[in-house]
Amino acid sequence: MSDFYGVKIQQSRPIVDAIRAAVAAKRRPVAARERVYASEISACDRRITFALLGCGPDEIRADSPSALMGDAIHAHLEALLAGAFPGRIETEVRVVGDAVSGRIDALLRENDGTLTVIDIKTVGAREWALRSKVEEYVDQISVYAALVGATTGIVLLVNRDTGEMDELRFDVDYARAEALFDKARRLQKQAQDGLVAEATAWGTEACRWCPYRRRCEGLDKTRSLVYTNSGWNNQQ
Ligand code: SF4
Repeated sequence: MSDFYGVKIQQSRPIVDAIRAAVAAKRRPVAARERVYASEISACDRRITFALLGCGPDEIRADSPSALMGDAIHAHLEALLAGAFPGRIETEVRVVGDAVSGRIDALLRENDGTLTVIDIKTVGAREWALRSKVEEYVDQISVYAALVGATTGIVLLVNRDTGEMDELRFDVDYARAEALFDKARRLQKQAQDGLVAEATAWGTEACRWCPYRRRCEGLDKTRSLVYTNSGWNNQQ
């Protein structure tokens, strides 16, 4: 029991604990998978094969405030979009290709019958100013668009610190999407063969946020490695 301006505050946190439990129950178990997520298509080759092979992250965080806020903003904006374009918006559209899968936030049928892929990105104030990830977002949306035959992509950028929004609209480049499908197929094949790919991003900013950084640190960065449950026992 603590005292807050004369009010006795209990130490137990049953509501917070219940929310944490609900979030943990929704967390996908770490497991090997067949396809590259469209959201990770721009990532380092090695990071993608770690994920395909079902390697666990260095640590599982109990709380992820930015993910919680991102989910809430997504759900709210998807509902607003459905209201703004009645009968023309489909949200949470699952797409599956031979080597890539994902979920489109919102798919809009335009008045002329063409399709537009809308992907909502919530960012902090720093990234809002820098716009350093726009190329990655365009990659992800291009992959979605090629899977559903859309001609236009939109990054709906939201500043979670201020609530500002911006709309980055572009014509979809199918050649760009095809190059990304080729990357996914190559890494899918490597993972199927039990290989962890080269560490193509080592030494870059991407490693700072990589969930496999510690796992990657002690390994040869320049080659594919044979992966077994007990570790790496060979190099290709
Ligand atoms: S730590 Fe860097 S190089 Fe290693 S897998 Fe992650 S992003 Fe790739």
